[in-house]
Amino acid sequence: MKTRVIAFCNQKGGVAKTTSVINVGAALARAGRRVLLVDADAQGSLTVSVGLEERITDQTVTTYELLLENGNASDAIWENVGSGYDVIAADIRLSAADLKLVSVPGRETVLRDALEEIAPAYDYILIDCPPNLSIVTMNALTAAHELIIPQQAHFLALSGLNLLLDTVEVVQRRVNRQLAITGVVLTMYNGRTNHAKEVKSQVTDFFTNRVYNTVIRNNIALADAPARGLDVFQYDPKSNGAADYEALAQEIIKQEGKA
Ligand code: ADP
Ligand code: MG
Repeated sequence: MKTRVIAFCNQKGGVAKTTSVINVGAALARAGRRVLLVDADAQGSLTVSVGLEERITDQTVTTYELLLENGNASDAIWENVGSGYDVIAADIRLSAADLKLVSVPGRETVLRDALEEIAPAYDYILIDCPPNLSIVTMNALTAAHELIIPQQAHFLALSGLNLLLDTVEVVQRRVNRQLAITGVVLTMYNGRTNHAKEVKSQVTDFFTNRVYNTVIRNNIALADAPARGLDVFQYDPKSNGAADYEALAQEIIKQEGKA
């Protein structure tokens, strides 16, 4: 299959971008897909959550080196992490990237160019975006063919969606015509509250058929797994969290060839 490059973006923090990248990636790998996860957040939450933190040194090629030092993506890849995905790591060095990229010609296309040589080796490249609409985020949206928006099932999380959509439109107009919003996934869902249901219907009104049927329920295994450096399928394969991300990955697989 043609490589699907999917950015998981929402400029709000704490909406489960990182959790979704890791566990969708894990489920896709378990389904036999060749998967690369790219940490594009200077917080390095993805890198920490999959247990790579202690292995990162000043010599490690990370997303930062790809963006600013002509690093080769093939040198940046950690193979067969967790449930069987590859990872490009990030750490705090990446926090300097925005300032430095400002003066780089073609600054929005650096990540896309860096990933080009390795893309054919993967079915899926999932990019974990930072919680802002920075140049690094623009790079993720430019490298991607698709955008998945993780959205916390809370009404406060809805404000700001317009800003994200404006940014997507700018990227589509200027650098990446083919970028499509593939789907919105509701996360941290508590089906017992009317409130969560209301948010779901509001999001569905707005995005119509692009909202995934699967919602990710609040689940303690999803919150506990990262502290052990494990994805949810390693940590607790019988949890609701594992079941929900498995179901979401199946929906994403059904989109193959349609995007
Ligand atoms: P983001 O990357 O958007 O900032 P994270 O994926 O880091 O968000 O999630 C924020 C926090 O919420 C993390 O501590 C994570 O473990 C926790 N979390 C994410 N999804 C769930 C869930 N469905 N149930 C419980 N906790 C969750
Ligand atoms: Mg994150």
